[in-house]
Amino acid sequence: MKNLKILIAGGGIGGLATAIALAHSGHHVEVRERRSFVDETGAAVQLGPNAWHALARLGLQHIVKDRAVFPDRLCIRDGQTGKLLTTISFDGSFQAKFHAPYATILRAQLHAALLEEAKNLPTVELASGCEVTTEDIRNRTEAIIAADGINSSLRTCLFPGVSARSLPFTIFRSMPNLAFANADIDFLHVTLWLCRNGHVVHYPSGNPSKVNLVAVCSGEVLTPRERLQGLCPPLDAILRAARDLSTWPAQAVPFLPQWHAARVCLIGDAAHGTVPFLAQGAAMALEDAVAMAAAIEGATTVEAAFQQFETSRRKRTARLDAQSQGMPRLYHAAGPLAFARNMAMQSGLISSLQFVTWLYRHSAP
Ligand SMILES: Cc1cc2nc3c(=O)[nH]c(=O)nc-3n(C[C@H](O)[C@H](O)[C@H](O)COP(=O)(O)OP(=O)(O)OC[C@H]3O[C@@H](n4cnc5c(N)ncnc54)[C@H](O)[C@@H]3O)c2cc1C
Repeated sequence: MKNLKILIAGGGIGGLATAIALAHSGHHVEVRERRSFVDETGAAVQLGPNAWHALARLGLQHIVKDRAVFPDRLCIRDGQTGKLLTTISFDGSFQAKFHAPYATILRAQLHAALLEEAKNLPTVELASGCEVTTEDIRNRTEAIIAADGINSSLRTCLFPGVSARSLPFTIFRSMPNLAFANADIDFLHVTLWLCRNGHVVHYPSGNPSKVNLVAVCSGEVLTPRERLQGLCPPLDAILRAARDLSTWPAQAVPFLPQWHAARVCLIGDAAHGTVPFLAQGAAMALEDAVAMAAAIEGATTVEAAFQQFETSRRKRTARLDAQSQGMPRLYHAAGPLAFARNMAMQSGLISSLQFVTWLYRHSAP
């Protein structure tokens, strides 16, 4: 199909990326964002190779590369002993294997790159401070793409009674100032600390004086240090330096029998949002954008395009969701299980790359 008029609900990563992909195919797109497009909230996100494949399809890899940070490796450590369990190098052989790098970037910078591109495209219209409502779904005749995030109200309108489920974790985010983190740790790497009852990950944020930190604890707690006890001194020092903690809802969208109804289709977190334990939220939204444009290009009706979009995306996102929700069994193990995990990681019997190879190898349609 060519020259469609499409309304997108939500100007986050998924909404803007989809607007760009559709405008590149010659469609006219209106993006409505209920807040402001310029949003400085949100810390840094990780961009694995599959995110770069999608960015390349959107023609944005160079502009995003200029704003991203390229850590040279992932180090996995035992949070109690501090021992290094395994590393994944993001060097030339990683890049040759996956045909793309590994990066981290401030979410605001990624969002700004998408916004700049969208503003340059004559067939994209951006409206902020304005929602897509259930009235629009009832009354508008054009195709509607609901990229309205994990707590999507349009999803509830299409599938009454379906809402994101809370999972039994507390997720904390912080961007500690490195000056306060008096720890003997190289903050240029991505570091994952596996602890009893939780895990902590930190990586460069793009702001040289601050590191992006995410701490995940089982159950409901007020601070990570309340749940994660007996930590090694460097990790304890990093958590002490995390003075600007905010919580991030641990939610997952239940498996929906379908993502579209008539002329409305959910994408991104609205369709398949899950806990960020494999750091794929932004990547999945970018992949969805490319897949949606390809589906619309190849179909003769909107409904057929949405069906094709779902067919191309459901298996992958369902696998990601199942794997993300299963990660705590490995990451938060205690006692003999943790001992066995550590031995297997140290001896190379299990490598974290084996969990994500299928994800990183994917290239956009
Ligand atoms: C402010 C913010 C900060 C974030 N920070 C991080 C982070 O630090 N690390 C991380 O891994 N992930 C973060 N995320 C999540 C990550 O960006 C998403 O998982 C991923 O990009 C999926 O994107 P999405 O477009 O599906 O949803 P989102 O990026 O959540 O975007 C949804 C957008 O829709 C808008 N919206 C909602 N309802 C309506 C409506 N009815 N009409 C119009 N607009 C509507 C929202 O205001 C929002 O801008 C953040 C998301 C947001 C919104």
